[in-house]
Formats: sequence, C-alpha cells, structure tokens
Amino acid sequence: MSGPSSDCLFCRVVAGEIAPDVVRETDRTLAFRDISPQAPTHVLVVPRDHHPTIGALTAADPGLAAELLAAAQAVAEQEGLATAGSPEPGWRLVVNSGPDGGQTVHHVHLHVLGGRGLTWPPG
Ligand code: 5GP
Repeated sequence: MSGPSSDCLFCRVVAGEIAPDVVRETDRTLAFRDISPQAPTHVLVVPRDHHPTIGALTAADPGLAAELLAAAQAVAEQEGLATAGSPEPGWRLVVNSGPDGGQTVHHVHLHVLGGRGLTWPPG
C-alpha cells in the first residue's frame, strides 16, 4: 500500500494537515521532530508514501527503503551527531515494528536519537 490513508497520523503530517517541525525533506521523505522526544535530538524520518512497516516498505519499494536510510544519516549529520565516515559523537537509529516491537503509528518511521549517552538494552 502506498496511497495516503485518511486514518493514518503520519499521512496527515505528510499532507500538511498536522504541522510538523520539519528538519529535512526530499521528494520522497520527510523528517520532523518527535512530539515526545526521548533524547535531546529525536527526529522521525518517514516516506511520504504510506507503508505500514519496515518490512512492507522493503518488500514494496526497496529503493525507497534505501532513501529512508540515507535520509536518517543526513539528519544525523545535520543535527551534529555524525559526520560522513566518522561515528562521533554517535547516535541511534530505531525502527519499531509490530506490537512486540512497540510500534504505535502504523506508517513506517525511523527514529533518529542522539545528544546524550544512550543506554542498552532497550526496554
Ligand atoms: P512508534 O512507537 O510507532 O515507533 O513511534 C511513534 C512516535 O510518534 C512516538 O515517538 C511518538 O512520540 C510520535 N508521535 C505521535 N504522535 C505524534 C505527532 O502528532 N507528531 C509528532 N511529531 N510525533 C508524534
């Protein structure tokens, strides 16, 4: 599925019905700050097209999945968390998938987290 879904929160963000704090955008991706940040930097990176999970996106459009990953790296660099070829000071990329993965919004999104020392393992 890739058309907009009227009952999807992030489709409404992409459509401009909910105004996001935009960090970066491309023709096919949008990055905006999480409404409930879990770190000093917490940015969500979404495809403009609707795909419910990372698995669904990768199966339907692997090129877009790669664009989403590149967009997350670009956000980390833009936010001062990473430089190309160097991981310092460091950051984390999270993709929650399905109920056990803790996914609450069913439009695939990458969490870019950083700005503090992050602990492991996650809950
Ligand atoms: P998930 O649990 O699905 O991996 O992550 C969903 C994320 O979306 C959560 O971190 C939550 O804070 C964020 N979120 C939920 N509603 C909104 C909203 O209306 N605007 C923004 N910017 N983030 C949201």
